[in-house]
Amino acid sequence: RSPVSVMTELPILQIAGLRKEYGGFVALKDIDLKVREGEFFTIVGPSGSGKTTLIKLLVGMEEQTEGSIWLRNTRLDRVPANRRPTCMVFQSLALFPHRSVGQNVEFPLKIKGMPAAERKKRALELLSMFRLPENYYGKHINQCSGGERQRIALARALAFDPEILFFDEPLSALDYRLRKTLEKELKALHLRTGKTFIYITHSLEEAMVMSDRIAILREGRFEQIGPADEIYNRPQSCFVASFMGDVNLFAVARDAAGSGAAIAHFSISAEAAAAIDIAPDKKNTLMVRPESIRILSENDLADFITRGRVAGQYLLGSRTQYEVEQEGGRALVVEAANHTPGASAGEVIRLGFDLKQAHLIQEAVS
Ligand code: ATP
Repeated sequence: RSPVSVMTELPILQIAGLRKEYGGFVALKDIDLKVREGEFFTIVGPSGSGKTTLIKLLVGMEEQTEGSIWLRNTRLDRVPANRRPTCMVFQSLALFPHRSVGQNVEFPLKIKGMPAAERKKRALELLSMFRLPENYYGKHINQCSGGERQRIALARALAFDPEILFFDEPLSALDYRLRKTLEKELKALHLRTGKTFIYITHSLEEAMVMSDRIAILREGRFEQIGPADEIYNRPQSCFVASFMGDVNLFAVARDAAGSGAAIAHFSISAEAAAAIDIAPDKKNTLMVRPESIRILSENDLADFITRGRVAGQYLLGSRTQYEVEQEGGRALVVEAANHTPGASAGEVIRLGFDLKQAHLIQEAVS
């Protein structure tokens, strides 16, 4: 994670009131954003939410309908695409397939007029940064594997030495292991170069592993922007909560006495019931992540207790996920470390969680 203390106060990138329409269709609206120099900033959102559109506006492949984009004190959206000090790494890498690895990486350096010997030295440095040894320099792109091509594209992007690097799902075509390796490499690279990275992905996991901050885009609008742990642990809406992984969402109502909170099919400790601060004019939902619900023995205590039948059991590696059917047909998602006592399919179990492991979401009623 980039140390916040070394970030300058003036944002490197500032977006104000950005809107993009295609014909009558509004693809982006009310986009305001400040990105700090050296930040790893990730935009996630479902398909069609406007991620690619936003990146296209930033790199100058599309023109906005309204609003402005600033690079420090300069109106970036008035700079032609080919003169913007930004660089883009796409999922489709746009490498020159019939050229050598060296020629590909050196391309930006050649444009800048760097002499051949210096170019080669720099290209070899960049390749070694991505663990591609010297013998790759003369290889052709079509002799390289998918993962190697991805590293070459990253080396070339760095050769441009841009102010900001934009990434549009650069890892989505790779297999799981390679993706995991490159996620870590990208994060290390980010720390080493101190560059500003703006990254787009569908993948929550990718976003969480690498980013300083995450923005959730929904139907062309930012739904929430914050550090990864805040987005995961304290989402402001049920949409963000569900988008960031498996979750249990419980509608909260007033209890019969009207003084505390109630959740259907849960018994709640008096302290927890009184501590939940229900907003009467909002939709109140209690969020609990699967890992925060415990399988209880008959004598165990918890603020919230319920029972349910184990309907499904899935091994996730070090943990097991259980699908538990509560009374009323509601399904709960519960995860337990494999060394803790588990449960078997069909068994009726007692489950519980404490208030401090839950998060209250209060949303405007639409
Ligand atoms: P994905 O994750 O599937 O790539 P995305 O979040 O990147 O999706 P965009 O490609 O930005 O989404 O598209 C946002 C919306 O704008 C979509 O509904 C899309 O159909 C629409 N759109 C994008 N480009 C155009 C265009 N040139 N003309 C009309 N509509 C467009």
